[in-house]
Parts: sequence; structure tokens; C-alpha cells
Amino acid sequence: MAFPTHADYVIIGAGIHGLSTAWRLAERLLDAGETVDGRIVVLDKTGIAAGASGIACGVVRNNYYQPAMRNLMAHSVGVWESDPEAFSYHSVGYMQISCEPMHNDIAQIYSEQKAIGYESVFVEGEGDCQQYMQALFSDWQAQGITSVLHEKKGGYANNTAAIYGLAKKAEKLGVRIITGVEVTGFKTESGSTSVQAVETSKGPVGCDHVVIGAGPWVRDFWNMLELPKQIDVKDLEGKVHNNVDTWRFWQLEEGVLKVDPELQKTNDGGMPPVIHVDTDAPLLSDEDGSLITEEMWGIYYKPDWHFGGIQGGAAPYAVDTPVDDVLLDPYGPESPEWVSGPDFAHMWVSALAHCQKRFSGTLAQYHRDPSGGLGCFTPDSFPVFDRFCGNVSVIADSNHGYKMLGVGRLMADEIMGDEQELLKPFRFNRFESGELHPTSSSPFPWS
Ligand SMILES: Cc1cc2nc3c(=O)[nH]c(=O)nc-3n(C[C@H](O)[C@H](O)[C@H](O)COP(=O)(O)OP(=O)(O)OC[C@H]3O[C@@H](n4cnc5c(N)ncnc54)[C@H](O)[C@@H]3O)c2cc1C
Repeated sequence: MAFPTHADYVIIGAGIHGLSTAWRLAERLLDAGETVDGRIVVLDKTGIAAGASGIACGVVRNNYYQPAMRNLMAHSVGVWESDPEAFSYHSVGYMQISCEPMHNDIAQIYSEQKAIGYESVFVEGEGDCQQYMQALFSDWQAQGITSVLHEKKGGYANNTAAIYGLAKKAEKLGVRIITGVEVTGFKTESGSTSVQAVETSKGPVGCDHVVIGAGPWVRDFWNMLELPKQIDVKDLEGKVHNNVDTWRFWQLEEGVLKVDPELQKTNDGGMPPVIHVDTDAPLLSDEDGSLITEEMWGIYYKPDWHFGGIQGGAAPYAVDTPVDDVLLDPYGPESPEWVSGPDFAHMWVSALAHCQKRFSGTLAQYHRDPSGGLGCFTPDSFPVFDRFCGNVSVIADSNHGYKMLGVGRLMADEIMGDEQELLKPFRFNRFESGELHPTSSSPFPWS
């Protein structure tokens, strides 16, 4: 098939957001009695799931301190549940297990989950938490845990399988996905900032509307659109911080312990929920008993037959390289620079052993292949879903996004003229107006 010279909707990025947008746009056109063929094109410089969506841990949860995030996640969980098979989605639930400094935040999340009808169980007090955890995992041994939030929905999806399932849904409705095509710039209409054509390595593609679902590469598209590299940000106390970088990178630390995934089954042989632990208990090396940290630390993990072991991660670290100098390509495990190292393996496996005795003595089974990858974050570490330059919709999820299967669909509805309440709290002008999302006591920048 010839490379297109025009498409009504050009979507950049064949990850979770680009494909979810394409799928819904196609549904909308068909619902309106129109045809799709050739009108929606997804362009990706590498391939389907070549970015963050293809290396994500795949955890799907509601546990957010920010009401707007919780509402959005509840919507996305509904989309995951709409076709678990196609999305390779495992609805095993999710547990947030925390120490006392986080108790109040989590209690609030629980009460607000109840208010929106999102099913969860909340356990409080050290003794009751220990008992609840040991009823699931007899070897549970993490000390100092004073709250457990057990979300009955959510869980995880197999990262690439879900994205391929999504691509299939979009293609079935007539969306054209073209890989191996790099977008290099935009041609604007004279006297306007609207994009008239997307410049690519195979020539220009004229368009009516552009969607950018470029994950960590959003920095590059932002620069191509000549949007501000620095902005003023009004914080929750009303103080204005001038010239804050619009984007910054964090390195996501993840890996796989190559033990039999069956090892993590619950006492009754069932599929366990995804476990997330945040604690201020001293973390000691499982190898030699030395102190790893006395600071607050956090990990998450799940058995994963796709990764072939126990897969998970720990809190990311901020990248201090100037934002425009961060090398994104090659991305993820292929990167010579941005991969999880031996310190991560030591910390994470020791933390697993801190929580469950069954992981003690397993460090040698940690896989040694590179893993992890970069995420691009906004000044408040929450997403920006907005329209710029008249006809460019940007989905910049601040690395929250694998679980946000429903966001692209909501963006598509907005493109079709239906403003979405769920997306409104994520507009770019919140940085100027000071309508930021509240911050929690979690050690993670995304909770
Ligand atoms: C290690 C890791 C673990 C994570 N775990 C989770 C998790 O458990 N749960 C969760 O919810 N989120 C997780 N995330 C975050 C999540 O993966 C991302 O937020 C989400 O996948 C971003 O999706 P996207 O569609 O915006 O971008 P991506 O999936 O990154 O897709 C962007 C695409 O754009 C293409 N592209 C880039 N530049 C160009 C160009 N110039 N021309 C054409 N195409 C281009 C790329 O090839 C890529 O395929 C994790 C992220 C990382 C890095």
C-alpha cells in the first residue's frame, strides 16, 4: 500500500495512548455512519509497543491520593475489564501496604474509593495488618505496617500482548498503522500555528488533526511545536516558581527474579494480587545483613509468567542530565545508559525478602539482562491531556500511563467535540493557575 499523502487524523506513537485514541476515533466515525479507511493513520518510528508501553510492568491500580487520578483510573479499569482476553489482562487485584506516615493518606483514598463505588478492603493497625497479610501469604514478615488497602479490581496486563490486542481492535475498524516511519517536524499553515502536515522520513502527510502519544519522546515533539521549554508554576500555597523546566526525566527501576512464578501463589494456591509496599522500616541486605537504607523505601511485585519470574520495581530516581541532553534512543533495555543496575537488584531482592521469607537467598536468581527505562514527567508529576496549536492533541501521561487504557478514548471523544470532565483536571494551564494535584507522603512521584 502506498505511503499516504493525507489522513484526517495522524496519530504519532503506536503505544497505549496512540492506539487507544485510534480505536475510539474509528468507533466514532463508524457510529456516525462514516467510513474509516485511510482517514486514521498511526505512525511509529519503530513498531507497535516499541516505547514505554512495551516495557511497562503493566500494573493497573486505582490507588491514587489525587481524586482526579482515581476517577480516571476507575474509568480505565472499566476499559480493561471490557475485554480481558484481548488485553491480556489479569484482574487479580492490587494491595497498597504502608507504614504509619502514609496511614492517613491511604485512609482517605479508601473512603473516596468507597464514595465512587470502587471495591476495596481497608485494614488498620499493625496486628490486624500482619494477620490479614499472613492469611494470604503465610511467610509475610514485613514489620511496621499499619495499613493495608486491598483493591479487589485492577491487577496487571502482559505489556506487549495488551498493546498488540489494542492494535488489532483499531486495525479491525480500518485504522492504518504504519511502522518504521519517523516524524521529523510539522508544517504549519501560514499565519497560524495549526499543523497542516506532519513531516516524516517518508515524506509529508497532510492532516486535519494530530495526536501525539509519544511517551517519553514528548519532549522532542514539544520542541518541534516550539512550545515553552520552561514555564512558571504556581504551587498549592500560591507561591510562583519561575522558569521551571516543562519536562524532566526519571529512570524507572524494574527487574525480574527468575524463580518459578508459582512461588508467589497465595496460601490457598490462588493467583496473588499485585503487592506494593512502602515502609520506613530499615532495609537490610539479604546477602550480608548490612544496612541498605533507613529512609522511606517502596517496592512493587507480582508473579509474571510472561516475564518468567517475579517482576516488579522500586522507586525511580530523578535524572539530573539537562533535559534536552537526555538520550532516549535506543530506548529501554537497549539503552547503554538508562537501565537498572546491580544496586537496584540488591535493594529490590532484599526488599522482597524483607516482606516474604520465601525470597530470602534468591539474589543469585535475579536476571542479569538490562531492564527498566526512562519516563518523562511534568512539573507536578501528573499528566497533561490538552490541545495545543489549534489542532494538536497531546497525551503526556507523566509516566502513569500503561494503566490508562481509557485516556486515548476520552481524548478521541474530545477531538470529536465532546469535552470530557475526567480530562479537565489535566489541562496545561493548571501550572499557571495553581490548580495542581495534591501530593501524598508516598516515596513514589506518581502516587
Ligand atoms: C520501566 C517502566 C515500567 C512502567 N510500568 C508501568 C506500570 O506498571 N503501570 C503503568 O500504568 N505505567 C507504567 N509505566 C508507564 C507507562 O509505560 C507509560 O506511561 C506509557 O506506556 C506511555 O504510553 P505512550 O503511548 O504515551 O508512549 P509509548 O508507549 O512510549 O509509545 C510512544 C511511541 O512513539 C514512538 N515515537 C517516538 N518518537 C517518534 C517519532 N519521532 N516518530 C514516530 N514515532 C515516534 C515510539 O517508537 C513509541 O513506540 C512504566 C514505564 C516504564 C519505563
